[in-house]
Amino acid sequence: MKFWLPEACSSALDIAWLFLTRVAGRETLAVFVSGLMVRMQSCDIYFSIKERGEWFAVDYDLVVLGGGPGGYKAALKAAQNGLKTALVEKAGLGGTCLNRGCVPTKLFLGATSVLAGLESQKKLKLATGQAVFDLQRLQARKDSIINASQNLMRVSLEKTGVQLFNGRGRLRGGKTVRVEDRELSFTNLILATGSESGALPGLKPDHEYILTSTDALCLTAVPRSMIVIGAGAVGLEIGQIFHRLGTRITMIEALDRVAPMEDREVSVELFRYLKRQGMDIRTGVRVKALSIDNALVRVCLEGREDLEAEKCLLALGRLPDTDSLNLEAEGVQTYGPGWIKADSFLGAADNIYAIGDVNGRSLYAHSAEHQGEYVLEHILGRDESPYDPGPVPSCIYGSLEVIRTGLGSQELTSAGETFSVSSASLAPNTIIQSHGLIQGFIKVFWVRDRVAGITGVGHGLSGLITLAQIATRERWTRKEAGRYIFAHPTLDESLREALLGPQIKNEPGS
Ligand SMILES: Cc1cc2nc3c(=O)[nH]c(=O)nc-3n(C[C@H](O)[C@H](O)[C@H](O)COP(=O)(O)OP(=O)(O)OC[C@H]3O[C@@H](n4cnc5c(N)ncnc54)[C@H](O)[C@@H]3O)c2cc1C
Repeated sequence: MKFWLPEACSSALDIAWLFLTRVAGRETLAVFVSGLMVRMQSCDIYFSIKERGEWFAVDYDLVVLGGGPGGYKAALKAAQNGLKTALVEKAGLGGTCLNRGCVPTKLFLGATSVLAGLESQKKLKLATGQAVFDLQRLQARKDSIINASQNLMRVSLEKTGVQLFNGRGRLRGGKTVRVEDRELSFTNLILATGSESGALPGLKPDHEYILTSTDALCLTAVPRSMIVIGAGAVGLEIGQIFHRLGTRITMIEALDRVAPMEDREVSVELFRYLKRQGMDIRTGVRVKALSIDNALVRVCLEGREDLEAEKCLLALGRLPDTDSLNLEAEGVQTYGPGWIKADSFLGAADNIYAIGDVNGRSLYAHSAEHQGEYVLEHILGRDESPYDPGPVPSCIYGSLEVIRTGLGSQELTSAGETFSVSSASLAPNTIIQSHGLIQGFIKVFWVRDRVAGITGVGHGLSGLITLAQIATRERWTRKEAGRYIFAHPTLDESLREALLGPQIKNEPGS
């Protein structure tokens, strides 16, 4: 608690103030002042009290900035472990993940999967007809799911004793954070302010024709055409949602393949499938400029003819949300476009930690949560070892899903490792056949006869990611993989086949 009172208290207000500070407890005082501030906004006296309100700050064992998956889980766990905790959130609880990321995209993909499923069965001549989709109702369902989740989160915070502050938090130095006109002092601070949609010079959203992923996930009418710039996870997922709804999709990727972070064979298989579905995909193509003409977006490409569409989605990656945090006040350093530098304990300065997207290490909701849980264990003195996430699981969702965990051929080749690859095609799998989507495979990378990484592309593969992660983390041998019974018929059987299949050696540089 930082508190200062002038020596000379002449006015009645100062005497009342003195009484409260000496006689009443600190919490009572804080409640009294904030109550007065709210009730007396129209009186002159308010300003006098407000000024004094700035002289004190309430002490917390932990202040968390950002109520996304990272910050929310960390705050909850802190309070459950007896720390006096404040959580500061400037927008909606749940952050990017709940409001404009993982949850809406998977909700839309799940809901529209009926359209993709019908198309697959039609191709097999097993079904006819049409499913008609209501995007406005889907938006309403999305909103109600988000509201219900936020209410649950709020209740959990209240029950656990986390104090929630709605507002933008900013560092003030001296281990204090400013939220609107409140001041919170902290022993420990977790920065979990996440990231926002990226843009490039000349490629900026206007939020009506040129959209961010957030805008696209709020559309209530299905556009006739959409140009998606960027074929990473976000572009692929949202592109597929609108493709299923009947939008003509053109996807532009500057690099030479879709899903450029993935294994090359995975990219090729995904590209072939999406092309066959009727998406126009252009790789190795750079966008020079965007303009709006006659209610159409014109996309000017380097060395190619311009393209036009009703909407353009910018799926250009993510940028940190650190500009307004005043990080210098506590000596917190950044790198690149403003990602927070975190050491091997996820520390950014003395008793200050950075978790989740904002430290730029691994831009997944599960990584944010995992990092938050680690930092809490570290603050509580229960984990003194450096942060080790092990093989991070990654999924891209859609009609074919991409999974990846551990090391792949690119990392192993750059490290000069000799490795082997075993694989299994998904085509013979009964579950895959039942869905009529027989494309895809699973690949296992082996180093010194132990699993070093697993990747794959195919229908429903995200359901295998945790088993793939366990096999990689535990560094299974072929014999260890063979110990387990895999239920029949499941997709898991294809992972078993890939694990037990013949291993083909890849020499460095091959
Ligand atoms: C379209 C899309 C789909 C995605 N799909 C997946 C997926 O399927 N799986 C997956 O794992 N990840 C997915 N992600 C990524 C995932 O959403 C993020 O990795 C995750 O939300 C990061 O969590 P976080 O807690 O670090 O930050 P965020 O979720 O970004 O939360 C940060 C919070 O901090 C708040 N904040 C910022 N500044 C301040 C401040 N000064 N004061 C107070 N509050 C502040 C913000 O309002 C926000 O609520 C997706 C992202 C997008 C955009």
